[in-house]
Amino acid sequence: MPGARERSRSPVAGGGAAGAQPASALERAAREPADAASRRAAKPVVCYEVGMLPKVDEAMYAAARAGMQQLKELVVPARQARCFEVPAGHFFRIVSTEGPQVGDLNLWNRDDMKERFYTSKTRQLHATHLTTGDRLWSTFPWMRPMATITHDTLGWYGWDEDGGGIHDVIGSRCDPYTNHVLLGKNYNFCCHSNLTRTLVERGVPDAESHVHDVLNVFMCTGFTKDTKQYFMKASPVRPGDFLELFAEIPLLCSLSACPGGDCSEKHSADDAPGYPLTVQIFQPAAGTLQGWESPKPSGYSGRHGL
Ligand SMILES: [Zn+2]
Repeated sequence: MPGARERSRSPVAGGGAAGAQPASALERAAREPADAASRRAAKPVVCYEVGMLPKVDEAMYAAARAGMQQLKELVVPARQARCFEVPAGHFFRIVSTEGPQVGDLNLWNRDDMKERFYTSKTRQLHATHLTTGDRLWSTFPWMRPMATITHDTLGWYGWDEDGGGIHDVIGSRCDPYTNHVLLGKNYNFCCHSNLTRTLVERGVPDAESHVHDVLNVFMCTGFTKDTKQYFMKASPVRPGDFLELFAEIPLLCSLSACPGGDCSEKHSADDAPGYPLTVQIFQPAAGTLQGWESPKPSGYSGRHGL
């Protein structure tokens, strides 16, 4: 039946003949009304018009990146994370160097960590997966672009037949709490813990509370077509691939090389092959950013009707 939802998300043992069991209260509540088909036929409307967002000046970014000079490089070891700062108006790249590896990226305003990357708003404004021209937006009350993606060597991937795409803002990050709920074990090298340690090492008070939902760099994810469950599959990233971003405001970043490696089979474990990731920071060509300035925080009055 078109549109009908699978009742059970996990395979149920036994099966049994339909109608053999009396309907539970939950199942009775879910019975379709007579006009179900016409209700489902309502047309989807994209919630936010991307065309109304502040324009991405492609020519400016292209000129700035054409002659940019590399200032710095750092390596994020496998199953570890590292912090780095990127001055406003500079570019940074996350580069695959040794093998397929996904990275979990957090962003903060370097000068005020209360302003941080807001994945669900970014997802609403752009899509479940990001690529060149998309922006990484910050939390309220600032709500402004923190970074703009200026190059994505995996931009060719698009959407695969399973509905998967690259660089998602739908997964949160692997974390030891979920792992403990599922397996009853302590595992300390999930991306959440890796990111937390970088902030502790930096001396950030209450470090763990600053860790937030990530951009899943190079990760291939989606929702299953039948049950809409979050899935991952082997990342198509190969050495030499990179994601490049322009820092719209001064950034503090932390990047974790996920213990899942390419996330083809598992995460939150030490038995998946893991590889380092490299971060490169670039200064744009002189004179190419004339007239550019950091986006202003939201102009909303902040009164909330009070
Ligand atoms: Zn992870």
